[in-house]
Amino acid sequence: MNTTLFQSLPDAVSVYEVSPRDGLQNEAAAVSTYNKTRLVDALAESGLQRIEVTSFVSPRWIPQLSDADDLLKMVHRPPGATYSALCPNRQGLERALATGVEEIAVFLSVSEGHNKRNVNKSVAESLAGFRDVVQPALEHGLRVRAYLSTLWGCPYEGEVDPKRGVAITRQLFDMGCYQVSLGDTIGAGTPLQTKRILEMFLAEFPSERLAMHMHDTRGTALANVIVGLEMGIRTFDASVGGLGGCPYAPGAAGNLATEDLVYTLHAMGIQTGIDLDKLLEAGRVASAIVGRDLPGKVLRAGVRSLRR
Ligand code: MG
Repeated sequence: MNTTLFQSLPDAVSVYEVSPRDGLQNEAAAVSTYNKTRLVDALAESGLQRIEVTSFVSPRWIPQLSDADDLLKMVHRPPGATYSALCPNRQGLERALATGVEEIAVFLSVSEGHNKRNVNKSVAESLAGFRDVVQPALEHGLRVRAYLSTLWGCPYEGEVDPKRGVAITRQLFDMGCYQVSLGDTIGAGTPLQTKRILEMFLAEFPSERLAMHMHDTRGTALANVIVGLEMGIRTFDASVGGLGGCPYAPGAAGNLATEDLVYTLHAMGIQTGIDLDKLLEAGRVASAIVGRDLPGKVLRAGVRSLRR
């Protein structure tokens, strides 16, 4: 029997928390700045070191995150933590610089259809626009991350050619982005597809420059993450409680739940620096501030229910 699986697991991986931004942006509930502060502080308290706190997109696009400047002033920033914000343009960068974030993120889609609907630009126009953001951010000492959406499929175009994603990723690295997070925006990815996509990317780029941002809309996020882990990916995006539904399927799950990821990693002997009990506490805060039960499975079932 071939048992080469899990022969080279890492000692530790990095979890990139996106619930305050990606989660709340996709929630219908209006959440006060104070309650967002409670969530971010609870996440930091759990040991999460990388948190995407908010977004400096125009308040006209995403009114839920229009309090970005105030929020970043109110949250407690533990030493060593990296707080990040989405930053689509030069105006957003000016706001980000005023708040003292350590990192910003730019975002675009592999598919033209999704990029057009999302930011009203072609992919080439998005990439050209990043030149006003990325280099100035680097000159101010910020790190710049990039999100590449719809790599596993597009809600408007269906199948996506991963080679397009590889070409876009090369341009993002050439611009100075330190990491590109590969996104399954519609949560349609499956393990063999993930293997094929990652083979293309890992043939071109070092594994530490790549992250995975998987959605659990069809219950496959963690399976895809395990494929990535096995292939050398060491950064995974997640959202506590699975906060943030799927924007294309109302009521369905969106982001992979951080506690489901952490529970699995810890059980495999892989460290994250996160206290799972405190992470569940942050999940309860997330649930309380949006006023609904969240889909995260470990949040619902608990960690210790199997103990006698
Ligand atoms: Mg997401």
